Amino acid sequence: EAKGRGRNQVCFYAPQMHEKVLERVTLDSDFRRALAEEQFVLYYQPQWTANKEMKGVEALVRWRHPEKGMISPVYFIPFAEESKLILPLGDWVLRTALKQLADWQQDPALKHLIMSVNVSALQFSQEGFVSQVKEVIYQTGIPPAQLQIELTESMLVHDQFDIIQKMQSLKQLGVLISLDDFGTGYSSLSYLQQLPIDQLKIDQSFIRAIQESDKQASLAASIIGLGHNLHMEVIAEGVETQAQFDWLKQHECDLFQGFLLARPMSIDTFCY
Ligand code: C2E
Ligand code: MG
Ligand code: MG
Ligand code: MG
Repeated sequence: EAKGRGRNQVCFYAPQMHEKVLERVTLDSDFRRALAEEQFVLYYQPQWTANKEMKGVEALVRWRHPEKGMISPVYFIPFAEESKLILPLGDWVLRTALKQLADWQQDPALKHLIMSVNVSALQFSQEGFVSQVKEVIYQTGIPPAQLQIELTESMLVHDQFDIIQKMQSLKQLGVLISLDDFGTGYSSLSYLQQLPIDQLKIDQSFIRAIQESDKQASLAASIIGLGHNLHMEVIAEGVETQAQFDWLKQHECDLFQGFLLARPMSIDTFCY
């Protein structure tokens, strides 16, 4: 009976699986070619103080696919993580962002900017991660205090000892650490308090909720209070409306990032 069902399953699933495998192979070889041919591109989205001074930028990767056009990281980062191709991609992102930061050192209007770079869990968990960062800083000659590594709160649930150690090593290099998508993970407050984190990035979902009700808004206010009590800078991501900006400013949020202020921009259109 089991055999019969097995045979049925094979008949039923085989064509679909074949398609999935094919799709996957295409994506895999497309992705490798994209790395080799430099089809990836970084966009930069400014981060502002309450007085609308640009304090930094976040580097956000896009795939300029020769046939499919510009592809959002939302579509390829999960694949890149699963296939481990995030490792060469992450290396490229770090190098490219820091080369850009090095270029900006020549421009008095831009030389103070902080460059925030997203780092995936797999990339951060690599044994050589800190030495990789150190090497790229050395090669590009950028001031380490102008590099900020964005880690997501959700990755804190993994090997805690290793995470604290790595964060401390990064701090010793002088690099800043931001906790991205904050409020959506499950980090405990006692754990958070032990980590050498410079910045909390309030997840976009809390920013959107601000105008829904006072109760919803109180969550964003609590995160700002929590960050400040732990001596961290607090940034809001996904600020889309003036009302959100005003509310956040009134509640002493330190930094603002979102479509209201500026979209992510390619380097050719980066204006300030
Ligand atoms: P994230 O790090 O949380 O980045 C914020 C995302 O929100 C970006 O999407 C940004 O373009 C978008 N955004 C900014 N302002 C607004 C706004 O006002 N409204 C709305 N609705 N969205 C806004 P993007 O560029 O598509 O990136 C999505 C995610 O992909 C990022 O989320 C990050 O997790 C990941 N990602 C992007 N670049 C990299 C990278 O170089 N390495 C790694 N590991 N992940 C990356
Ligand atoms: Mg980010
Ligand atoms: Mg984020
Ligand atoms: Mg987010």
